[in-house]
Amino acid sequence: MTTHQFLPHSDGACSRRAFLTVSAALGGAALASHAAAPSQPNPPPDPIIDIHQHTHYHGRSDQQMLAHQRAMGVTTSILLPAGRPTVRPATHGGRSNGLAANCTGNEAVLAYAKAHPGEFLFGANEVTDLPEAAVEIEKYLKLGAKIIAEQKFGVQCDSPESERLYTLAAEYDVPILLHLQESTYNSGFKRLPTMFRKFPKTIFIMHAQSTWANIDANYDGKSLYPTGPVAKGGLTSQYLADHANCFADMSAGSGLNSLLRDEEHTRWFLEKHQDKILYGSDCADTLGRGPGCQGAGTIAAIRKYAANKVVERKILFENSKKLFRL
Ligand SMILES: [Zn+2]
Ligand SMILES: [Zn+2]
Repeated sequence: MTTHQFLPHSDGACSRRAFLTVSAALGGAALASHAAAPSQPNPPPDPIIDIHQHTHYHGRSDQQMLAHQRAMGVTTSILLPAGRPTVRPATHGGRSNGLAANCTGNEAVLAYAKAHPGEFLFGANEVTDLPEAAVEIEKYLKLGAKIIAEQKFGVQCDSPESERLYTLAAEYDVPILLHLQESTYNSGFKRLPTMFRKFPKTIFIMHAQSTWANIDANYDGKSLYPTGPVAKGGLTSQYLADHANCFADMSAGSGLNSLLRDEEHTRWFLEKHQDKILYGSDCADTLGRGPGCQGAGTIAAIRKYAANKVVERKILFENSKKLFRL
């Protein structure tokens, strides 16, 4: 297949605008350091855990995905499966099957992880409101799934069916990752704290547009990829600060956009929430480096804006190592 850079799906692949912003903010430095690499001594690279990647993402082959992860410098990846293909409101009549990006499901990620021990781990998933969702997810938790994800379905974040999965996550002591995109997936962002409180033993990982737009206390609630200066103290920052069981995954175009829109805020945000932010890529390209790879852009941004090496290592590695007990 042809190499694609950013594809027009909701999140997980950068917009063209975000791509240009990445290039402007990081491209020069990233390219310069990359070009200089061969002449430098060769210390073992720092390990990186990517908690958010997919199989058959927009049709990308397994081989291309492996090469992509290695090119990014990722040493451990967690593969997040789709739910089964089904036609119902939660999948928007089938349009959101395959996580709206052609991704494959539980069997595929299990097989891939088994074929690449140590380098790849897998999650368990199902369409939230299917009657058999909990049974299907439990089957893969028993086989060693590390997370319930990616929950990206058209339900309310506090629906009874969602609550059933929050309970299951706590029972198996694995996090649950929510694609939060108001009016489309896991709606009700403002009500999430009710869930944090009701399920104190469940680890919630927030992801996607509503998460990253809400870093801004002045967010208008409309744009999925807001730009410009950020006022400290948005809902996302409050949730991370106030709830021990709330984490955020830095992945996708929305995560990167949030890092690049206001440098001063980003430095503050990464330092303040240094124990609660996890690196994820969620990118569908075949490159794994340079301005065409959003995941590589996110690594570069974290390295650029983290206050020091300790903060950088927490976000790229230590926090996930601890949370997933790796
Ligand atoms: Zn994803
Ligand atoms: Zn990439």
